[in-house]
Amino acid sequence: MIPYREQILTGWGNVAGERARIYRPERLGDLRDAVETCGETLISRGLGRGYGDAAINAGGVVSHLRLNRMLAFDGQRGIVECEAGVTFGDLLRVGLPRGFFPAVTPGTKHVTIGGAIAADVHGKNHHADGSLADCLLDFRLLTASGETLRCSRTENAAAFWATLGGMGLTGAIVDARLRMRPVTSAFLTVDYEKTADLDATLERFAQGDARYQYSVAWIDCLARGPSLGRSVLMRGNHTPVEELPADVGPHLASRKGREYGPHLASPRGRGKLRVPCFLSNLVLNSWSVRAFNALYYRRHGDRHAVVDYDSFFYPLDAVADWNRIYGRRGFLQYQAVFPTATSRTGLVALLEALASSRQASFLAVLKTFGPANQGLLSFPMAGSTLAVDLPNTGPAVMGLLDDLDEIVIRHGGRVYLAKDVRLSRRAFEAMYPQADEFRRIKAAIDPQGRFDSALARRLGLSGEIGQQRAAA
Ligand SMILES: Cc1cc2nc3c(=O)[nH]c(=O)nc-3n(C[C@H](O)[C@H](O)[C@H](O)COP(=O)(O)OP(=O)(O)OC[C@H]3O[C@@H](n4cnc5c(N)ncnc54)[C@H](O)[C@@H]3O)c2cc1C
Repeated sequence: MIPYREQILTGWGNVAGERARIYRPERLGDLRDAVETCGETLISRGLGRGYGDAAINAGGVVSHLRLNRMLAFDGQRGIVECEAGVTFGDLLRVGLPRGFFPAVTPGTKHVTIGGAIAADVHGKNHHADGSLADCLLDFRLLTASGETLRCSRTENAAAFWATLGGMGLTGAIVDARLRMRPVTSAFLTVDYEKTADLDATLERFAQGDARYQYSVAWIDCLARGPSLGRSVLMRGNHTPVEELPADVGPHLASRKGREYGPHLASPRGRGKLRVPCFLSNLVLNSWSVRAFNALYYRRHGDRHAVVDYDSFFYPLDAVADWNRIYGRRGFLQYQAVFPTATSRTGLVALLEALASSRQASFLAVLKTFGPANQGLLSFPMAGSTLAVDLPNTGPAVMGLLDDLDEIVIRHGGRVYLAKDVRLSRRAFEAMYPQADEFRRIKAAIDPQGRFDSALARRLGLSGEIGQQRAAA
């Protein structure tokens, strides 16, 4: 039996916590031991960047952070093979100097490949390139019986599509093979554009989706009336090396004598700021957030710039532990998607409910998605997605989010499980019509339901053991 440490674990939002025995295997054999011996139930955990309760379990939690070896890199085709504890930061360190960038990346590079597969993460390019599934060739899954299944579109395909977006409930992802995107520089050419209201924002997205590989809007969630939905759009493409301005050098890390050119080096000097402790709840109140939103909107004009990849993809990574600014009670991120046909009315209803609730939202992001894939619990579907961060004000915010769920259900949308900590089982069933098919496949791979989590018990995705525990 491998050693463990007991600790209370939460998600990135710091809202719900459970005491767990944490196992940190270093080899596949240790991982197998942990799965076999860690008690009744367990769940895999990566870097804990899921906002809610998907990677917490009152029982065993297996950390994949020491199972983080790069196994192979095909420099011709840009195919990387790595253990599931490898992060997007690691992919960049290995891939970029060789001219390859992650084909799909979430908004922080502190996410593991296992966590990214389990959430089927999307980036700013979903409309063009799909979700992580689209660049994933295959992975190995260690199941509750100790068997290792190779899963791809052609081998154990049911397990493949249940695991993508399956929030760790089918087993532990051991390693994976991913295709990266060829690039000739570490920079993006970005157009920033202000819009006056939601219609203008949606229209710009519709017009620009074919021109821009990456597309996202910061949206002022406190604006009301004729300004409802006013935004700052940020849309861009990888900059070809021959189009780089002459003055990009000073932003780059030193080449350290490697063979690649400075245009493929990473920006330096990021990530040095840190929020030292949980801040007081008074820092983020509706007044300060309203002032921030108004200032942010005013300061951004229309402009065209070449920026390094950190500034474009990972702006929040510049401040370590930024989640502490919300204080000890933490915060919730609410991310919902509406199908194309109902996007406008759904977003108007959601934004009006948010703006009139007086619940301050500091960060709100709007994106468009391309078509859904076959992932049974995968989040993206063709349409528009809005993500807002809200301080945990207890019953007030929980009541608001219950109301938002009803708006989302009425418009045929769904809420992202990787961000969720409070969705009811009833709302979940209405949003994810393939939940029963997921349960059927989980029961076949994990008949007792040993892979379990707080999220699974809340949403009725546990197997036999978890259901008994939830009922007790
Ligand atoms: C600042 C920030 C920005 C973000 N931006 C985006 C974004 O743009 N797009 C997006 O889609 N998401 C985004 N996310 C969410 C994040 O990508 C997901 O929650 C991701 O799952 C977190 O991965 P992790 O390694 O931290 O895993 P954890 O949070 O530890 O776990 C998340 C889930 O993955 C499972 N899991 C982890 N490792 C394994 C494994 N080896 N085998 C099986 N299951 C495993 C866990 O059981 C859990 O269900 C963002 C999060 C933050 C904090």
